[in-house]
Amino acid sequence: MDQHKFLSPRAYRFVLLAFLLLFAPAWLVAAEHPYEYFIDFCAIGERAPGTAGHLQARSFIVDHLKEPEVDSFSVRGTNYYNIYKRFPGEDPRIGFAAHWDSDVGCPGANDGGSGVALLLALADTLERNPPLHAVDLLFFDGEDVNGAELYGSSHFAANCVDNYSYIIVLDMVGDKDLQIYQEGNSAKFFPAFVDSIWEIGRAIAPEVFVPAVKYYITDDHISLITYGIRSIVIIDFDYPYWDTVDDTADKCSRQSLDTMYRFVLNLIYQRRRYGYAP
Ligand SMILES: [Zn+2]
Repeated sequence: MDQHKFLSPRAYRFVLLAFLLLFAPAWLVAAEHPYEYFIDFCAIGERAPGTAGHLQARSFIVDHLKEPEVDSFSVRGTNYYNIYKRFPGEDPRIGFAAHWDSDVGCPGANDGGSGVALLLALADTLERNPPLHAVDLLFFDGEDVNGAELYGSSHFAANCVDNYSYIIVLDMVGDKDLQIYQEGNSAKFFPAFVDSIWEIGRAIAPEVFVPAVKYYITDDHISLITYGIRSIVIIDFDYPYWDTVDDTADKCSRQSLDTMYRFVLNLIYQRRRYGYAP
């Protein structure tokens, strides 16, 4: 006769419950950390429109989203694909955008890849924790053609009938040495909004968000602004590997992506706390 079991059924249930409580919050936040998406996405390499890597990157994004919209168009014989993932909620909606293409001869890890990784992780979190207000994740194509043609965001903005409170463009946000100055065009058009966003950033990472303008940059926010959408770009332009063959995943860090991920989660889920919320 042996009464000595390792755990009684009651103790077993207790241990199981404790285990679930400990690990459930992590599961609720995201299935995959943005850094894991980042490494997998960057393994594709160059994603210049018209190349095999371009199509592979499109499939990667589409396959990691539940029921995305693919909005395709062509310019001078080359096919482009914007990918949208919409989460319903109250109006007005907010948007987060990143371009997913890369320049010719550039693997575009930080440039393009870092923003895509953040958006894919955000999609997981939004799927599990539906937002109060509508949130759109916008993956633009054709940003980096011939310098900055902004094909995807122009196509989106020209056909946009939705009312956005704002769209924040995320680009080059994975640099190991992350320092984000305000971008000149964003601050010129929307000074109070930019200040409020940097205040939120500084509450999360004061060493990262610098409340001063350093560069004026042409990125997808410019085409959105042109069509009357309130949009700013968040970009760390002090990156020596920009637009070179050396813009590879090893120049970026899990910590930087983690900081940026916490920052965007804060914008989505604590929206009402801040003055800019409708
Ligand atoms: Zn870029």
